[in-house]
Parts: sequence; C-alpha cells; structure tokens
Amino acid sequence: MCGVVGYVGENNSVDILMDGLYSLEYRGYDSAGISVIENDSIITFKSEGKIDNLQNIINKNKKIESNIGIGHTRWATHGAPSDINAHPHSTARLSLVHNGIIENYKDIKDKLVKKGYKFISETDTEVAANLIDSLYDGNPLIAIRKAIEIIEGSYAFAIIFKDKLDKVYAVRKGAPLIVALGKDGKNENFIASDISAVLKYTNKYIIMDEENIAELKKNRVAIYDKDLKEIKAKVSEANWTLEQAEKSGYEHFMIKEIHEQPKAILDTIEPRIVHGIPDFKRDNILDENFWTYFDRVYIVGCGTAMHAAMIGKRLIEDNCRIPVECEIASEFRYKNPILTDKTLAIFVSQSGETADTLAALNLVKERGCKSLAIVNVNGSSIARASDYVIYTYAGPEISVASTKAYSVQVAIMYLITFKISLARKLKNEKEIKILIRNMLNAIDSINKLLDMSEEIKKLCVDYKEVGSIFFMGRDLDYYQVMEGALKMKEISYIHCEAYAGGELKHGVISLITEGTSVVALAIQEKILNKMISNIKEVVSRGAKVLLFAKEGMNIDKDAYDKIIYLPNIEDMFMPIASIIALQLLAYHTAVVRGCDVDKPRNLAKSVTVE
Ligand code: GLU
Repeated sequence: MCGVVGYVGENNSVDILMDGLYSLEYRGYDSAGISVIENDSIITFKSEGKIDNLQNIINKNKKIESNIGIGHTRWATHGAPSDINAHPHSTARLSLVHNGIIENYKDIKDKLVKKGYKFISETDTEVAANLIDSLYDGNPLIAIRKAIEIIEGSYAFAIIFKDKLDKVYAVRKGAPLIVALGKDGKNENFIASDISAVLKYTNKYIIMDEENIAELKKNRVAIYDKDLKEIKAKVSEANWTLEQAEKSGYEHFMIKEIHEQPKAILDTIEPRIVHGIPDFKRDNILDENFWTYFDRVYIVGCGTAMHAAMIGKRLIEDNCRIPVECEIASEFRYKNPILTDKTLAIFVSQSGETADTLAALNLVKERGCKSLAIVNVNGSSIARASDYVIYTYAGPEISVASTKAYSVQVAIMYLITFKISLARKLKNEKEIKILIRNMLNAIDSINKLLDMSEEIKKLCVDYKEVGSIFFMGRDLDYYQVMEGALKMKEISYIHCEAYAGGELKHGVISLITEGTSVVALAIQEKILNKMISNIKEVVSRGAKVLLFAKEGMNIDKDAYDKIIYLPNIEDMFMPIASIIALQLLAYHTAVVRGCDVDKPRNLAKSVTVE
C-alpha cells in the first residue's frame, strides 16, 4: 500500500525516483510526489491522481540538476487525496515521505501547535515531519530516534535534510522498506518499499529491522540500532529478474501473471517433492514430529489468501481428520481464539507485509503456538516473525488482483495435506505418490485452460453492461466461486455474490429475476446432480446461467444458457485448474468494460495498514 523511494548517487535523481514510482504504481495510490535537493535547496513536486500528472508538472519545469531525493505514492488514510495532502511534507529544514498511520498524531499535533507550529495539510504525516523538525539540532539520527520514541503507529519514513545535502535517512516500523545497494563500482544507493522499484539498477538489498535507522550516502550505507550504534546488516540478493517485473508483450500484468501459473506452481512445489513425496526440509522443517504434534490448525489470511486458506481447511480436514479453523486476519486479531501449545497457526500472505495478518501472527506468538507462514516475498515481516516459512515462488506479482500468488498458495495447501496424512500414517507412500502424480497432471492441464482464453473472452461481452452477477458452486467449487466472484468485483466493478448452490433458496433466490446473470461451477462429480438441481432452481426463475462443467459430463440443456467444458481432472485437484477459467472470465470482462485492470480503483497491492 503506497510506495516509498529514495536515491543518492551520481545520476539524475528525478528520473530515478520517477522510474521507481512508476514501478511501485501497482501497490495502489491516489497521489504522488518527489522532493529533490538541487544546490542547497529542496524542491518539491506533488500532484493528486496518476504519476503521469506529476510527470507533466515536472516536465513543465526547467531541468533539475539533482543527485539526491525521495519520492512517494500515497494511499490516503488521513485527509482526502489532494495536492496538499500528497507527500512529501516539508518544513523549513527537512522533507519527508511516509507510508503508514501515525495513531497518536492528534496529541502530537496539539502539542506542536502550542509551540507555534503551523499545518497546511490534513495528514498525520505532516505531524511527523514537524515533530522531527522540532527535535532537530543538526543531528538527524538523534532527531529521528527521539521522534520514533514518541510516534505510535506504523511508518516507513524517508527523509532528507536541507543541511545534509549528501544523505537520505530511512526508518520503518510495521511498514515495508528496504535499502538497496548500488551495483559494484557504482556510487549510488536506494531505498524502496520493495525491490521491484529499483530492480533496473540493482538486486542487492538490506531488509531494515524495525526502528533501525539507515543513513545513505552515495558511497556508503550505515545502519544504526536503537542506541544509535552502527550495526552490520545482512545483504540479500533478489532472484527476481527485471523481465519478471515487466509486461513482456502482454497487454496487462494480470493476463501475463495468469499465464505464468503453470511455471509458478511447478517452481513452488517441485523443490518440495523428493522421490515423489512431499518434503519440507528445505524450509527447515526438519523434525518429522512437527507434522504429527498438533491437534488443531488455524489458517489465517485476508482476501484471496483467505480463499486459499479455505481450500487448505477443506483438504486438511477431509484427508487428515484434524479440525481446521479458517479466520479472516482482521477478525482473528481481536478475538480470543482457542490456542494451545498443540495448535498450529498458518498465515497466508503474498507480500508477507499484510498488516492484519502480521498482527494475528503476533497474537499467536504471544500465546506460545507454533506458527508457519506461507508467503511470496523473501525476508518479509511475516516470514521473519513466524517460526517456519514456506516460501512460494510465484515471482513478483504486479497486478493488484492476485492470480498466480493464489495458485501457489493452493498448491502448498495440497503438499501440506499430503505431508500431514503421510506423517500420521493415514496414507502410505505409494498412495501419496499417486496423489502427487495426479496433482502434477492437473497442473499440466492448466495449459489447456489457458488455450481457452479466447473462447471465454467471447462470453464476456454479455457482462459489458450488467450490474450484478451471482456465482454458485458446491463443495470445493464453492471456494472457487468465492475467489472468482472476488476477482470479478475487484477489477470489473460488477457487484457479485458467491453462494453455495444449496444456500440460495434460503434467501438470495428472491433476487433472481428474468435475465439475472449467474455463473455456476458444476465440476465436483459427487455432488453434480444436486448442483444441477440448484442451477435449475435459478434457471426456472429467469436466470441466465453461464455454466462451467467438466469434459465428459452429461449436462441437461435446460440447465444453462451457455456452457464451457473444462478439462477432465480428478475432483480433488479441480481447484488447481478451474480457477484459471474464472480468472480469465474476470480479466476479459474488465477489459470489455474498459476498466484499469492492473490498478483497480481504491485497491492497494499489499495492505500494510490495519
Ligand atoms: N497516513 C499517511 C497519509 O494519509 C500516509 C498514507 C500512505 O501510506 O500512503 O497521508
């Protein structure tokens, strides 16, 4: 959510900061700005709306000679998106950008107002800028340190000072921020919300520990701990390539990422299949008793990750006979969940920075339970805070609406299920090997589904003008329609409701009238007849049904308006494939409706605020 960049080096800082902001666009934002130092003054440009607006303002200005600066894309929390509320926020002595929320901004502001400070924006961020200014006596480290002792909430700050013309400062708590190091021999260093912003220049980075302060010069990075002692920080290398973070000829990141799914899933599971059975030793889960010890599981996530969690619940309960609770992170964190030392809590998050999921993880840790994270971003906060991490290898996911990150999370749910059932001797090695083989076949058939893209695209014209769509499915298909409906809502702005097939008649069927659009999944063979009856209930009330069934199924023509047959895969593995069809449906519908597919309104990629 929102993006922070900073640069100090020998090249044009305006170009590099703008480049970084464009790369961070996917995180979601409503305004943008930069502050750069030219000679001995700080020059700030900011604008509401797209980064292009900011670029236009910069282009109208005379060329700026600057090698140092900070930039920001804002996702408004305090004060409407506007030029004034956009970051950077400046005082006479410094300029600052901020990702996060300062919870006690009102108290701090009241005190500063009494001291004579004046505020022009409605933001919590301007309060932080003035607080640091009020504590500044020529040593940025001391002023920042004192300020973060006062500030409550979450922040990733990048700051430049008017009298420190060669340095950028950064500090974070509860919000992501990395320091990226210029390639060997290059006199430049960067800060960014994530590595994708600077991948063009370097893949070496330091993940900032919370409350440590970074001081960047063009030829040196120093990291200071809470006592302002310099520490040695670990340098990581991103194995994500620039190509992965670019569109590579596709019209949108979303469709590119939909197509990347077979590879992403294989990259994620193959290293964890050893001699045909699941193996999590590479994830440092060395103790086999880990899989047999616990008697209850929680799976916690938000949005799409929550739907992957639901599939996980179903798979583990069905196959391993352990009770599994699925919890929305923002609810879980304020509950009093039943947690014992025999509870395993699994946290699912693409970015590994989802604020609510991180808070839920901290709650579980306080109660002494074992935690396992399933995340896509190396070294992210959730990965670092949990006892064990299973990284998914989807590569960078740029489209705000998640596709490949979901599929790899689901794939891991299968592997975990198989591992538990093997460890608990509910299945033997031979049976697990067969299951894994069937799973690999299901992954293989994703390619067939991708080939159906044009066929699905033709159907989407029907949804060009519609106001709402009902999604229905039963059994494992129910979770899929929830995810399919979410995708459709996120990017096409059509109001969608996902219902379990048997549940409509308990209320929602009152909304089905002549011409109501319904998307139905009837793929689970064991419940096919029941599902078809449920579909007929809506057809007879006038619904126009687009039905996804499975090759070889004999479906009564009265049960649909249009039908698509998906490849014939075993019921259990159908979720791996069927979601692709629903993703394509959402994607092509959004395109037909002229929506901004990769950057849907109001949404942010990683939700780093509560
Ligand atoms: N809370 C700050 C604001 O509303 C920062 C929001 C952000 O993370 O972009 O300005």
